[in-house]
Amino acid sequence: MESQRIASLVERLGNLLRSEDRVTGSGAGLVPIHMQILRYLSACNRYSDTPAGVGEFVGATKGTTSQSINVLERKGYLKKRPDKEDGRIVHLGLTAKAERFIEKEFPPAEFADAVAGMRPGDRKRLSGLLNELLILLQRQNEGIAFGVCNTCRYFKRDGLGDTHQCGLTSEPLTEQESFMICREHEYPSEKAV
Ligand code: SF4
Repeated sequence: MESQRIASLVERLGNLLRSEDRVTGSGAGLVPIHMQILRYLSACNRYSDTPAGVGEFVGATKGTTSQSINVLERKGYLKKRPDKEDGRIVHLGLTAKAERFIEKEFPPAEFADAVAGMRPGDRKRLSGLLNELLILLQRQNEGIAFGVCNTCRYFKRDGLGDTHQCGLTSEPLTEQESFMICREHEYPSEKAV
């Protein structure tokens, strides 16, 4: 019964956010999948900012993902750049226009106001509990977790002395990157962090 109540509440919150997305997006000529893509690219790291990463995150087909990326590029929200080592790989980055748009429109003002109206301790508890629920679901699904880098089993804090390190690629990770989401992320086997 409790799980039904929680699922219903999460669903209603999701519906409210999606409906805000439709309103905000239409003003800029964007549809909800475009907004999802922009938010994903504002949060993901350099291993994940590819069309394949975008498609996996939004759960769209290759064709839909590619069309959406092209629309966003045409409207000046995205720029493509080839990978320095492998020219076949394309990375996607937000333009300054897209960064301003995300900063201004997400979360929607009414949602932000409602959260701001909660007690600080409650906000923190809610955020922690939702995060815990997300991690549990991601672990059950055994799909791509898109977890935050510093909770990954490969993350090595201060692994290179003056900077963090990815144990999978052995490359350095900045402090900022340690808070980004990654398509290669794997949770440690025992503890969800
Ligand atoms: S430590 Fe994990 S999450 Fe971070 S970059 Fe490496 S594989 Fe991705």
